[in-house]
Amino acid sequence: MAERVIPIVDQRAAVLAPQVPAAADCVPPSGTLLDARGRPLRDLRISVTDRCNFRCSYCMPKEVFDKNYRYLPHGDLLSFEEITRTARLFLAHGVRKLRLTGGEPLLRKDLERLVAQLAELRTLEGRAPDVTLTTNGSLLARKARALKQAGLSRVTVSLDSLDDAVFRRMNDMDFPVAQVLAGIEAAQAAGLEHIKVNMVVKRGTNDHEISAMARHFRGTGITLRFIEYMDVGATNGWRMDEVLPSDQVIARLQQELPLVPLTANAPGETAKRWGWAAADGRHHPALGEIGVISSVTQAFCGDCNRARLSMEGRLYLCLFATQGWDLRALLRGAASDGQIQAAIASIWQGRSDRYSELRASLPAEAGPGQRRIEMSYIGG
Ligand code: SAM
Ligand code: SF4
Ligand code: SF4
Repeated sequence: MAERVIPIVDQRAAVLAPQVPAAADCVPPSGTLLDARGRPLRDLRISVTDRCNFRCSYCMPKEVFDKNYRYLPHGDLLSFEEITRTARLFLAHGVRKLRLTGGEPLLRKDLERLVAQLAELRTLEGRAPDVTLTTNGSLLARKARALKQAGLSRVTVSLDSLDDAVFRRMNDMDFPVAQVLAGIEAAQAAGLEHIKVNMVVKRGTNDHEISAMARHFRGTGITLRFIEYMDVGATNGWRMDEVLPSDQVIARLQQELPLVPLTANAPGETAKRWGWAAADGRHHPALGEIGVISSVTQAFCGDCNRARLSMEGRLYLCLFATQGWDLRALLRGAASDGQIQAAIASIWQGRSDRYSELRASLPAEAGPGQRRIEMSYIGG
């Protein structure tokens, strides 16, 4: 077996300074902003903390994220007001969905206050944005009601196994699965709709749990999504032979229960949808659906409409980026809303990222002096 080499260095990537346009050059945003490959900007993922109470080996391996790891000091993080201002400027460019992530977002104190601020914002069409959250679920039982009251639209819970021993091993903090399941129940009881559960499938680690997970959530109104284990960041020792292609996930499930393909809900959707079928072979809505996110074997860069804001205010244009744009410098400087909006526009217009499409033809490591950002830094 190839030896795992884990670099013990600061993982945060290089930073680029956005150009601050002159006030006279600030054209009001139209919502029709396109990047260099014709992709609109619709989805902003906001990472609110680089800390987490889990140590999933595919994301924050203990060997790197140990007691010596230097997390960002609180003053470096964007305040809720700075995040809300940035989100407002992105909404003016046509963003409709704001997803809070991390690290573990529920570790950020009073997160519901941020949710309430974001829920007050309006899209270009005058609607409330879709404010969603991705969480490991460990604190959800305590927080679900307050989040719902604050205006959270939806929640996605990451859960890699129902088997307590496997789950404890995968989170590497001996955290019991029952507490995450209680969090999911609390989210349902609080009235959060369209709950999703994300399972990262690692061949040889939890792929034997695919069927149990599918059966557990079938017919509950919760959509389970199987995510291919990705080569994101530089610390998880990723190997292709640990990826179980989504086609194989579907084939395995179809041997037990009938599934039919469904059409996408929206352009840019990361998951391919499959519906549980009834005896007549047609999708039975009461049985619900599953999704597969095949970032490794079937790239979906072609309509990727997602931008990512780190907890310290850097803008990244791809999950596999090695460089981010320092919007915090503008937020904390004298830049006006118009100037920041114009800077965002020119950054997005210059975007040509499509890492997953190019993966096979790229070297396994980022270039010299470059380091890919970590998933725990930029969120999913
Ligand atoms: N801590 C929260 C959680 O786990 O839901 C939010 C942040 S986490 C980085 C966001 C998502 O990224 C989770 O669903 C997690 O399973 C997924 N993820 C992390 N590392 C991954 C990897 N190497 N491949 C695929 N998905 C990964
Ligand atoms: Fe934490 Fe989420 Fe990463 Fe797991 S996937 S270590 S829960 S940030
Ligand atoms: Fe989007 Fe980058 Fe992922 Fe492609 S690799 S889908 S551009 S985030």
